[in-house]
Amino acid sequence: MSYKGYCMRCREHREMKNVIKTAMKNGRNAVKGVCESCGAGMYKILPSDKK
Ligand SMILES: [Zn+2]
Repeated sequence: MSYKGYCMRCREHREMKNVIKTAMKNGRNAVKGVCESCGAGMYKILPSDKK
């Protein structure tokens, strides 16, 4: 599974690598990963998925 996020270093939307799903304190899902282009850490808040 891949995610796109906004890379602060590239200042572009990039594909994320090494994606790890995580959750924030308020229970929202998020993913952490690294920019495929420059390797900077990225963080993306996911829309709450309804199962
Ligand atoms: Zn980048």
